[in-house]
Amino acid sequence: MNPVCPICSAQSVLHRSDLYDDRYAYPGRFHVYRCQSCAHAFTNFMPSSTEVAKLYSDYYPRRNYDPSTWHPPQDPRGFVSWLWGRKGGAYAWVPERVRVLDVGTGAGESLGYHNVRGCQAVGMDPDANVERIAREKNVQIKIGLFSNTDIQGESFDYVTMNQVIEHFVDPIEVMKEAARVLVPGGRLIMGTPNYRGLLARLFGARWIHWHIPYHIHFFSRQSMQKAASLAGLELESVNMVTESDWMFFQICHALTRPAPVSASRFWSVGEQRPSLTKLAMGLALIPRFLRLTHLWTRMLDAMGAGDNVVYICRKPLR
Ligand SMILES: [Zn+2]
Repeated sequence: MNPVCPICSAQSVLHRSDLYDDRYAYPGRFHVYRCQSCAHAFTNFMPSSTEVAKLYSDYYPRRNYDPSTWHPPQDPRGFVSWLWGRKGGAYAWVPERVRVLDVGTGAGESLGYHNVRGCQAVGMDPDANVERIAREKNVQIKIGLFSNTDIQGESFDYVTMNQVIEHFVDPIEVMKEAARVLVPGGRLIMGTPNYRGLLARLFGARWIHWHIPYHIHFFSRQSMQKAASLAGLELESVNMVTESDWMFFQICHALTRPAPVSASRFWSVGEQRPSLTKLAMGLALIPRFLRLTHLWTRMLDAMGAGDNVVYICRKPLR
């Protein structure tokens, strides 16, 4: 029997079978199920906390992060930013001079962006490797998981999670914690992949954002609405904006996808890439150089078939 939907408990159907970790070679085959009621999609992999630690410390390559590549994102306004899809980042929706918490901040580049805009910005990340970067770049990052934190209630105007909510085993618990730390009227902004877009259909198992088993949840508008209300939030707006370089990464990924249990030479950070991988990247660079990848991305977003959705949820006033 198929698992029930983790958001609304309705029955699910098999959506895609036999996916594998085609980036970092975590072993195993995984299936994606789709809820028949709210269209939420999810994998059959619900790792324990020890498995999560292993998954991110042994397989995910954050420890190889090079601080010389640290650059806060640019101002997301104007034609060039539109062309690049900069508003696909959750940071881009945060106003100036507010208190903001960025969950899953990684190296904290968005914190640098908020700081120059007069915000009080704090990041949170489970990876202790980023402590050194935070010190060097003068940004504030708390190390730990975002559940039952010691953060004081009602202490932030905004909470952002960029490409993060899909990684959690229990996204509703995480959204409840966000609701707790937000002031009444505060907002939770989440960018997350859209599995119902055209590229997911076109590329099938080679779609870049299956990213199994790191991605566990794939939201629909209905499932996000349900999750928000269970967490004590209101879904305020749904915005389809995809960063244009994802199209470039998608082409590279599709051309270089490895066999099961072998690591991708495209995604492996800090390793020498073989000439065939370099050739595939060279081919993908042509439409990027001509800005075709950008135009295709903007077209897909306009059609409502893009790869990324920014959900904005509001904590009701008392
Ligand atoms: Zn459901």
